Parts: sequence; C-alpha cells; structure tokens
Amino acid sequence: MKKLRIMLVASEAVPFAKTGGLADVAGALPKALKELGHDVRIVMPRYGSINPHQYNLKSLPRPLGVPMGILGEQWCAVLEGKLPNSHVPIYFLEHILHYGRQALYNDANGVGFLDNDNRFIFLSRASLQLCKMLHFAPDIVHANDWHTSVVPLLLNTLYRYDPNFQHTASILTVHNMQYQGLFYKGAMDVLGIDWKHFNMHELEWHDHVNFLKGGICHATLWNTVSQGYAEEIQTSQYGYGLEGVARHHASTLRGIINGIDYTTWNPETDKHITAHYSETHLSGKHTCKRTLQRIFGLPERDNVPVFGIISRLVDQKGIDVLAESMTGIMSYDIQFVMLGTGESWAHDYFSHCTTVWPEKFGCYIGYDEALAHQIEAGCDFYVMPSRFEPCGLNQLYSLRYGTLPIIRSTGGLKDTVENFHEKRGTGTGFCFDDLNAHALYNTIGWAVYTWYNNPTAYKTMQKNAMKKRFTWEDSARKYLEMYDEAIVLKRTELHAP
Ligand code: ADP
Repeated sequence: MKKLRIMLVASEAVPFAKTGGLADVAGALPKALKELGHDVRIVMPRYGSINPHQYNLKSLPRPLGVPMGILGEQWCAVLEGKLPNSHVPIYFLEHILHYGRQALYNDANGVGFLDNDNRFIFLSRASLQLCKMLHFAPDIVHANDWHTSVVPLLLNTLYRYDPNFQHTASILTVHNMQYQGLFYKGAMDVLGIDWKHFNMHELEWHDHVNFLKGGICHATLWNTVSQGYAEEIQTSQYGYGLEGVARHHASTLRGIINGIDYTTWNPETDKHITAHYSETHLSGKHTCKRTLQRIFGLPERDNVPVFGIISRLVDQKGIDVLAESMTGIMSYDIQFVMLGTGESWAHDYFSHCTTVWPEKFGCYIGYDEALAHQIEAGCDFYVMPSRFEPCGLNQLYSLRYGTLPIIRSTGGLKDTVENFHEKRGTGTGFCFDDLNAHALYNTIGWAVYTWYNNPTAYKTMQKNAMKKRFTWEDSARKYLEMYDEAIVLKRTELHAP
C-alpha cells in the first residue's frame, strides 16, 4: 500500500486536552496509522491549560499567517511536539486571544464562548496554511466534529486551485451529531468564502451558519464512530435536525467503530485494581469485588451480583430512566455502585438513594480514574441505558473485564454487545430496545435471574466477552480503506469533464 500523507485536524487530543471521545480518537488513531507506516500529523490549539514545558514543545522558526476574511490576516506561533510514546508530530497553534483561556469551549456557566466561530474558523484555516508552510501536500485532511467541519468546505472553495492541495481528499468524522456549531451568519465574512455558499444545500440553517452541515456537504467522505450511529443519524430521533442532510449525503457516509487502549484497560496488568485476572483464572475478580464492596461500604458478600455504572450523569446516558426505575431495581437482591458527575438533580437524587438503600446502593459523585478501573473489575454487570451512543467506551472496557454489559440497543452499543440467547447459550450481554423504566427494570431482572439460576450460561458469556477485541489497529485499517476510497473519488472528480 502507498504511504499516505495525512493531516488530522482536531480541537482536542489525549493527553493534551480532553472533553470527550474525540480526544481519545485524535490521540490514538494517528499512532495506529503511524505504526502501519503512514506519514500522519496532527494540528490543534495550544489552550492555556496545556503546559509547553511539560511536553517539551518547541517553537517553529517562523510564525504562521492565517487569513480571516474581513478580520484580515492573523498571526500565530506554532509549537511542535510529539504524541507521547510515538513519532507522530503534533503542531499546536499559539494564539493568546483565541486559545489562551484554560477552558476549551465554554465559560464557567457552561455557555459556549461568544467567539467560538472565530476561534474554530482560525483553527480550520490555519491547518491548511500550516500544510503549505511545511510543504506538506496531504493525500488526506481529516477533520473532526463541528470545530473543524469547515475544512472540507475551504478545500473545495478557497483552496480549490491551490497546487498544495491538488490531490487532497477530505474526511470528516462526526463523534456527536448533537453539537453542530451554529452561529450568526456574519461568520461567512470571516470564513471569507462567497455568500453563494450560504444556501440550504450547504451552510445555511434557519438563517444561521451551521458548520457541521457545511462539512457533511463538502467532505469527500464522512463517517460516524459506529455503523449503528451512521444509520440512526438519518432519522429524526437522532439527527438533531440534520437527518435530511445525512440522508441526502448517505452515499458518502461510513461507520467505523473506535478502538480502546488495551494497555491501560487490561485486567491482567491493570495497576489500579487489587488483584489481576484473566478469562482462564478468574479468582482475582472475586478479590476485586470484595474491594469494591468495601470501598462503597456495602456488605461483603460473594453470593450477590454487583451492578455498576460510570458515567456523565446527563440526559444522553439515560440517567433519568435509571432514576425512574431505581425503586424496582432495588427490590432485587443485588448491589449497585455508581461513579459520575453531571446534572445537579442527579447528584441529589442518587446521593439520597444511598440513604434509602444503604445496604444495596453506593454512589460517588466525582471524577476518579482509579475508581473507574476498580468498578469495571469488581462488578458482575455494567449498566448503560443510553439515549444515544455514537460509539461508547465503557461497554468495551466491561467486555474486557468480564463484566457483562446491560445496554440499550443503540449506536455503538448495538454494534459491540451481542444479546444473550438462552437456547443457544451465546451472547456477551443483555440488550433492550425501548428506553423506559420498565424495559430497564425487566432487563436487569433477566440478568439477575441468569446470575442466580444459570451460572453456567453466565460464565460462558463472561469468557466470550473477555475474548472480544476492539483494537485501534483494526480501526486504523478501516480508516485507511476509507482514505483510499476518498482518494479515488477525488481523482475521479479531477478527471471529470
Ligand atoms: P462519553 O464520551 O459520551 O462520556 P464514553 O463511554 O464514550 O462516553 O466515554 C466515557 C469515558 O469517561 C469512559 O472512559 C469512562 O470510564 C470515563 N468516565 C466518565 N465519567 C467518569 C467519572 N466520573 N470518573 C472516571 N471516569 C469517568
């Protein structure tokens, strides 16, 4: 296979800055692509929270000029470093006015910064200017989410005849369709493209500019982070108003599931858990269960199934439905532990539950990486009643840790967890379709019944689950297939009459 030149543009990447799954992808996919022999680079902002000394970042000798339409040309410094434990170059844009703040997108009240349109037009435009300054003529520019969605549009307009990009195809990955980058139409003048693109087939959305829509319409190919979610966003339930656009551009839409980091999430070596275990030697998992019960102050019993959840406590995760079914769920002979932060009503409600069911329910409101590992290791079941889930990570960790996921069949959950089939004895978890308290209560009931009455089936599922792998190498190979397809499409377009 030909060695590809790829520039990945992202507003966040692990370990430098993270608010969601996008950062995981931006930090892991380039490494896997590099290991497969490709020349991949990353560009992102240098937020105030990123310490250049910590990562040994070095300034490039020349500053970068970025044309910003009616705002004129703006200049930034470019810091160069490497993704940790790799040879992937990463470039940070240093511009105090745009990125000097600690937070990435929102003020302390959770409201988006008023200049987010300018900040991310700058990032998008700078990514292309940087390619030129580095004499890097990419085969692929890979944009991610609304923040960099205008990149494909810029390539098709202002950079259409630029010699540096004559063979460049664009990819847009949508990690979450809910966030679209909706701005006052004056952003058109900062983009600097012709107002003829402000129409219902490209950028316009109810008299506003919609960055994501522009990206979907202009990308050579675009994808979501699971096949299931790619299908769902074409419906009104999941499309957040862009379902028609998604359907219109369905022929260029693909679905590629994310991988997970099996060096961090491995019960055989995990540094956060009290005992290690594998699918052939499971005794360490019982030790982890005891530890978990102790941490949450629950009775230390082997003969009770423990359920867990680690989540942002928000609408997307179906936390309201869990709350609604708590009384029913707590009527089973089970224990349940929760780790999460999010909406204040959820903090109050679930904290209150620990006083109503002190012997059964434990809850820690906060963010705690080590505890997340202990929950994955110590539980028998993991609960994920998501309203929508573009990919989802915790069900993948749960499979690896032999903690059977109980999921609502949506997006990436549907693609990665196989429902228990009682007759055949197959499956890796328990699934339900309708998001309501009855369905959740009944499915947890089914899992409880299986744990108590059919331990052989439970153990078989546990082994099946632990053998599953969702690696970044597999995902990277799928992205490469998509890149190749995009390059062919671009070539065809160039040779069209
Ligand atoms: P999303 O990105 O939508 O929040 P994912 O399942 O894709 O959901 O990923 C969430 C990640 O964040 C998982 O690795 C999960 O373990 C972690 N996480 C979420 N909340 C917490 C928390 N309170 N403490 C520790 N880790 C958390």
